[in-house]
Amino acid sequence: MNREEIEEIIRNLGDIPTRIEGKSVLVTGGAGFLGSWICEVLVEQGAKVICLDNLVSGLKSNIYPLMDKANFTFIQHDITQPIFFDEPLDIIMHLASRASPFEFEKYPIQILKANTLGILVALGIAKKHKARFLYTSTSEVYGAATEIPTSEEYRGNVNPIGQRSCYDEAKRCGESYVIAYKMEHGLDVRIARIFNTYGPRMRAEGVYGRVISRFVEQALSNKPITIFGDGTQTRSFCYVTDQIEGLLRLAFVEDGSGTVVNIGNDEEITILELAKVIKELTKSKSEMEFHPLPKDDPQRRKPDITKAKEILGWVPKVRLREGLERTIRYFREKK
Ligand code: UDP
Repeated sequence: MNREEIEEIIRNLGDIPTRIEGKSVLVTGGAGFLGSWICEVLVEQGAKVICLDNLVSGLKSNIYPLMDKANFTFIQHDITQPIFFDEPLDIIMHLASRASPFEFEKYPIQILKANTLGILVALGIAKKHKARFLYTSTSEVYGAATEIPTSEEYRGNVNPIGQRSCYDEAKRCGESYVIAYKMEHGLDVRIARIFNTYGPRMRAEGVYGRVISRFVEQALSNKPITIFGDGTQTRSFCYVTDQIEGLLRLAFVEDGSGTVVNIGNDEEITILELAKVIKELTKSKSEMEFHPLPKDDPQRRKPDITKAKEILGWVPKVRLREGLERTIRYFREKK
C-alpha cells in the first residue's frame, strides 16, 4: 500500500521529480511521521538523503525500508546540538519537533528547543552550505484564529503562557529565525504552515496520539471514542500524500525564496462528526465518551489555500472519507 502511495505522490508532483534527482538533502526529524514520507520520496527520486532524528518521537521502523539504500544515511542526532557536514548540501528541510498536544504538556522544553536552538543549528548548516531552507511551521502560529478560513496574512491569536504556548510560540520564533536568515544572510528560505495531517505512520499511542489515530484505534478495538468537549470544535484534515506533495512542491519550486504558505485541506468537519464517520467506516460498536476540553483548544481551524494553489499549483486530492479508509486499512494491518 505504501509503495503505491509513494508512486501516487511522485505522479502528482508533475515535473518536480526531475529537480529532485542528484540533490543532497538533509531532513531533520526524518524518522517522524512526515519526515519519513519525505525521505522515502526523495530517495526514490534519486536524491542523496541524510536523515537526522533523535528518535524521541520518530521511529526507526519508519525508515527501515530505506536503511539499505546507497543514497540514504541515517544519523541519530539531536538537532539542538551542533553537527557539521563536509559534503555539499543543497537543501535543508527542518521538520524536527514533537507535534502532539499531549506532548505539549509533557515535553514543553524539548519542543521549544527543537524550534529555537534546533532551527538555529539547522539554519547554520544551511548558511555554511548556501543551501535552500524549508521550515515546517504550523497552523498553530495562528492560535485560536478569529478569521476562518485563515489566510497567511492573519497574524495570530496566541496565548503566550497557555498550554499550547511551547509549540505555538516556538514555531512563531522559528519563523522569525528563518526570516532573519533571509534578511541578514540572503538565504533561500521557505515556510510551510502545516494544518492537521493524518495517515499511515501517524502514531496513536500515549502522548503521541492525535485525534484521527486515536479515534481509529479506539473504534477498531470497540473501545469508547474519547471526544474532548462537546465535539463542536472543527478541524480540516489533510491526507498525508497531499501534504507531502505540497511540501516537496514548496521545497523544489524555482524562485520560491521567502514564500510562506498554508498547506492543508480545507474540508472542515466537527470532531463529533469525525467520530461518527470513523465509527461508521470501521463498523465499530464503540460508544461516544465525552471528556473535558483541553485549555486553549482552538474552536475552528480551516486553511485558506488560495496561495498554495496559485504559487505551487497544488490542490489536495484525497477527500476525507477516502483518506480515512486508507488510514483505517493501515491501522487494521498494523494490529
Ligand atoms: N480530540 C478529541 N479526542 C481525542 C483527541 C483529540 O476530541 O481523543 C480533539 C482535540 O481536543 C482537538 C481535535 O480533536 O479539538 C484535534 O486534536 P489533535 O490532537 O489531533 O490536534 P490539534 O488539532 O488540537 O492540534
